[in-house]
Amino acid sequence: MVRVNQDYLKLPGSYLFSTIAKKVNEFQQEHPEKKVLRLGIGDVTQPLCPAVIRALHSAVDEMASPETFRGYAPDLGYDFLRNTITEKVYRPLGAEIYADEIFISDGAKSDSGNIQEIFAADVKVAVCDPVYPVYVDTNVMSGRTGTYDPATGLWSNVIYMPCTRENGYQPELPGEVPDLIYLCFPNNPTGAAITKAALQEWVDYANRSGAVIIYDAAYEAYISEPDVPHSIFECSGARDCAIEIRSFSKNAGFTGTRLGYTVIPKSLTDAEGNSVHKLWARRHGTKFNGAPYIIQRAGEAVYSDEGQKETREQIAYYMKNAAYILEGLRSAGYRVSGGVNAPYIWMETPDGMSSWDFFDLLLNRAGVVGTPGSGFGPSGEGCFRLTAFGTYENTVEAVERIKAL
Ligand SMILES: *Cc1c(COP(=O)(O)O)cnc(C)c1O
Repeated sequence: MVRVNQDYLKLPGSYLFSTIAKKVNEFQQEHPEKKVLRLGIGDVTQPLCPAVIRALHSAVDEMASPETFRGYAPDLGYDFLRNTITEKVYRPLGAEIYADEIFISDGAKSDSGNIQEIFAADVKVAVCDPVYPVYVDTNVMSGRTGTYDPATGLWSNVIYMPCTRENGYQPELPGEVPDLIYLCFPNNPTGAAITKAALQEWVDYANRSGAVIIYDAAYEAYISEPDVPHSIFECSGARDCAIEIRSFSKNAGFTGTRLGYTVIPKSLTDAEGNSVHKLWARRHGTKFNGAPYIIQRAGEAVYSDEGQKETREQIAYYMKNAAYILEGLRSAGYRVSGGVNAPYIWMETPDGMSSWDFFDLLLNRAGVVGTPGSGFGPSGEGCFRLTAFGTYENTVEAVERIKAL
């Protein structure tokens, strides 16, 4: 008889967002007259901008003619997009990144989940707590995380770096040295950002200890403060210790069209001098047949002057929502953070309520949906995530309802 991968069986419980959906559906069935306002969504709501739509149309038309039809894309990405990213993203930051170090993909979720494959089965992983669940779950699937303790919500072989109000939602350098360190800034779920000086300390630590940092920069377009880096490659020495994962989802609304990329400098090697870049290229070649031509043309259009202007307007729209939530809740006496360099607001529940009790209260008394902080890790207990991805009107109404609680 066949046996399934036993590591997959270790994954605990039901997925956070399906539990939320179930509770919201039950509430809506009991109260069909009530308008539920969703501040739990981690998805954009505004349509693709006109510059992107134009690029999509013209790429579709190219596919209709024998002269311009394209089949398989190169598995590492088209040069037009890799060159554009080098010039429009990394050169203005003063970061030394070459086009052939950029691997185009179908998004940051798959890259952040798959990247662990090219490291040894016994590498030790460090993650922030709370954290985007993909990092831990994919390491569970690969059998690296030891045993799960349902009482604490922790895996025995993972190094957790709590991010709480006490440390300003900044991870501290771990005592036990990890091999792989996952960092995500601006952060989902806390909305916290890291300064360039603080990120430089992580890069120095990684270079000192031989660790690799996997840097998820999915929210870099939301950065509004000048001392917050847009890329880990703004730090000196990062070419020797860092991998950066980027996405078009949150910066240009590609959640449904799918496009992302991962940057692996050629100078990044393991202890024996094996090139990480080469292995990722090999993996792409074997397991990925390239992101669609049409979508890569759309991605290129994001960096045109119109594309930049239009996507910045979309981000400004979401960040206006973020500012409204932040100010509204703060004036109502809630302790809130984030929302300045990220579309996420992290609030503490009132009176030390558990995250799920507050979820139920907010849903039942205000008809507002958010995400319980404990769903992102044990240190998220007592916290709650609200997102700025809704419409302005709904955001304003939701904040008024929370204030009236
Ligand atoms: C949304 C999100 C992603 C997913 O990006 P896709 O490109 O849509 O797969 C990656 N990382 C974080 C932290 C996210 O919140």
